[in-house]
Amino acid sequence: MTKPAAPPTLFERIIAREIPAEIVYEDEGYIAIKDIAPKAPVHLLVIPKTLSTRLDEISDAATLGQLYLTAIKVARQHLEDYRLVVNVGKGGGQEVFHTHIHVLGGWEGGSPVGFGA
Ligand code: 5GP
Repeated sequence: MTKPAAPPTLFERIIAREIPAEIVYEDEGYIAIKDIAPKAPVHLLVIPKTLSTRLDEISDAATLGQLYLTAIKVARQHLEDYRLVVNVGKGGGQEVFHTHIHVLGGWEGGSPVGFGA
């Protein structure tokens, strides 16, 4: 028996333009949006269009590398210095189970202490 298809993730729905978002970057493989509840003056989410639920599901170095290269490219379009954060799994603070990298920055006088996104 075939498994019923999983419902689309929030980010798949944003990629499909079913849910509005402020898109700051898009190419064939990735989209970057402004976080709806920013935890820093600049808070972007870099999202691969191919679904994996969490970062450690990606086992291919090229795919993982391209995701990080894209996050760096997007970050550098908005910020000189920045923090990249990935929450992995519920216990790691992940709420949306579609792999994404947080780009955070723009703090007055540098980043606050701590690593929470
Ligand atoms: P996670 O906790 O999974 O690492 O991060 C999910 C992020 O998605 C959170 O920072 C949250 O504010 C953001 N988010 C949740 N819903 C929406 C939405 O509908 N639109 C946008 N742009 N961001 C969202």
